[in-house]
This record gives sequence, structure tokens and C-alpha cells, in this order.
Amino acid sequence: MRDFAYARAADADAAVTLLADRPDARLIAGGTDLLGLLKEDIEHPGLLVDISRTALTGVSAGPDGLVLGALTRLSDAAAHPLVRAAFPALATALEKSASPQLRNLATLGGNVLQRTRCPYFRAETDLPCNKRTPGSGCAALTGHQRAAGLFGTSDACVATHPSDLAVALAALDATVLVRGARGERALGIEALYAPADSPPHVEHRLEHAEMITGIRVPATPLAALSRYLKVRERASYEFALVSAAVAVTVDRGTVSDVRIALGGVAPRPWRLRGAEQALRGGPLTPESVADALATELDGARTLPGNAFKVPLVRRTVVRALTGESP
Ligand SMILES: Cc1cc2nc3c(=O)[nH]c(=O)nc-3n(C[C@H](O)[C@H](O)[C@H](O)COP(=O)(O)OP(=O)(O)OC[C@H]3O[C@@H](n4cnc5c(N)ncnc54)[C@H](O)[C@@H]3O)c2cc1C
Ligand code: SF4
Repeated sequence: MRDFAYARAADADAAVTLLADRPDARLIAGGTDLLGLLKEDIEHPGLLVDISRTALTGVSAGPDGLVLGALTRLSDAAAHPLVRAAFPALATALEKSASPQLRNLATLGGNVLQRTRCPYFRAETDLPCNKRTPGSGCAALTGHQRAAGLFGTSDACVATHPSDLAVALAALDATVLVRGARGERALGIEALYAPADSPPHVEHRLEHAEMITGIRVPATPLAALSRYLKVRERASYEFALVSAAVAVTVDRGTVSDVRIALGGVAPRPWRLRGAEQALRGGPLTPESVADALATELDGARTLPGNAFKVPLVRRTVVRALTGESP
């Protein structure tokens, strides 16, 4: 690990000022992702701005729904009665993330900005990776592809975003609250991530001197019915191969409203708006869900090592929405 300077920010304004003064500064919250990247020399900031002691913690009910402080620990958010009662997909996504020890340290803001688990980005530092070394190539295109994405990928990078929380937030139309040198703004969770035509090393739309201060989730009847289903290689302490956050209301036998977001398949949480639209106004059965997914899945960009994810997405979404196996 290289040497770096360290400063503790008392609040969000102090953090933003420290960032604005130093182009080589980075925020550190729980450190559960960033410290690993420092040790592997994948990131090498000159200054770490520690925001872990700021008061941006807690869960509350505001006029627009749930408000979660960006520095809230995953374990605290998952255990909160408000989250458990009215946003079950959120609670499950958080509970199924990482391990109890990590959840006690990791924060919500850090979780949605964690970096990909692509093995070539993380460990194989002698192999090409456009995300780690722009312009070097992509070892995953001819290598291990089990973690590779189906949507929003390119010839330059096929990595996926590993956050479970972000998938649940996408299904629930959450907004990220951001503070920067020029004031405050709010971004839809999907808009937090870089547009599809961005180079692989550009992953989000925050400016250098901006930080996430909170997350707002609309409280709706749909949110209270939401569910999160995570499929992984082992039952705990593992990232998703595929996950689905869903919510659906059925009125007199027809779907009145529905949300579907996927994890493990794209460089950001991936909403299936076409399938949602196809389901509205029709019955909710394993067959109708599979039919609604067909067009979306036809657009999947598969590689030999990840084509299994297409049927896995279908099965995961059918089960999450109907409780039945296709
Ligand atoms: C072994 C292991 C297993 C894991 N399994 C899962 C899993 O199954 N599911 C899952 O979702 N995650 C998993 N994780 C990831 C873990 O949840 C994240 O590392 C954690 O949530 C990151 O939060 P943090 O507070 O530690 O972030 P940090 O490591 O402190 O920061 C991460 C990034 O976010 C930036 N950042 C942090 N806070 C802010 C803010 N408020 N505003 C702007 N930028 C900010 C930092 O600059 C840094 O770039 C796993 C991690 C490990 C090590
Ligand atoms: S998929 Fe992306 S992160 Fe993985 S090796 Fe290719 S460029 Fe790097």
C-alpha cells in the first residue's frame, strides 16, 4: 500500500471542502471496499477523507417516504422496524449482503459506490483490464465469464455492479441525495451510475467534490409488497450471480402495477421496464411473466461463460413475482 494523508471530516460540508481542495482526495466511510483496493494498489489516493464519524446516520420517515443517512450501517438499516415493515425488499437485500461483521461496518453510501468484483479488476493485476488501466484491454472477454453481465456491457468491459442494495433501490424508485461545492442535488438511483457509453473506468456521475448524504425511498403500497431474491453460488457471504427486486399489485386478477430490477447482470442495477409494461393489465402467472421477459432477454449480450444467466434470470424473476418455479 502506498502512503497517503488522512483527515477526519466533522460533517458533510467539511468533507466537501477537503475534497474540493485536493483532486487526489477520496472519501472513506466503512472502508470495507476501499481499503482492499488500496492494498491491491488499484486505487492510490493522496488523501483519505474519513466521513465515518459524521452524523449522516439513521432511518426516518419523511413526507416523501423513507430517508436513510448515507453513513447508516447496512446492519442498522436492515434491522430498522420501518424498513422491515414497509420496504421488505430493502431489508432482505441488506441482510443478504456480505457477512454480519461487514454489515456492521459497511455504509449505505459506500455500498452503492462499491466497485466491481470482476476477478481481473480485483486480483489479476498482470492481465489487461480497461477499468483498472484504461486502454489495456479486457481479460474477461476471453477468460472467466461467470460474473460477466448480460445488459449494458460492451467490447471494452463486461463487468457487473455487485451491490444488492442498489437493485432494491432501483425497483423502489429511490433517489440519492448529494452534497457538493455547488450545493445539493438529487439523482434517481439509476442516474447515479455512468451512462452506457462511458469508458469502463468511469462508473458514476458524482463530481469529484460531491458526496452522497442520504437516500430517499418513496413509501408506496407497492414498496410494502416488495421482495428481493438473490441467487448465488453458496447460501451466505457471496455476491449474486443473479438477483431480482420485485413488487407487484394485482387487482381483480390483473396486474395493476409492477416493478422488476435485476442485479448481477449489468454495470448498474437493471430495471426491466419493457417487461413491467408487458405485465400491466394482464394475469400474473409463471407463463405471463416468462412471456413478458422474452423480449428483454432476447436483447441479452451473452458470452460462452455467462449464457446460463439468461434462463437463470427468467427463473429468478418468475419465482420472485409468483412464488412458483417455471
Ligand atoms: C468479502 C466481501 C463480501 C461482500 N459481499 C457483498 C454482497 O453480498 N452484497 C453487497 O452488496 N456488497 C457486498 N460486499 C461489499 C460491501 O457491502 C461494501 O464493501 C460496502 O457496502 C462498502 O461500504 P463502505 O462504507 O465500507 O465503503 P468504503 O469502502 O468506505 O467506500 C467505497 C467507495 O464509496 C465511496 N464512498 C463511500 N461513502 C460515500 C459517500 N457517502 N458519498 C460518496 N462516496 C462515498 C468511497 O470513496 C469509495 O470509493 C462485500 C464486501 C466484501 C469485502
Ligand atoms: S470486464 Fe471490465 S473489469 Fe473485468 S477485466 Fe474486463 S475491463 Fe476489467
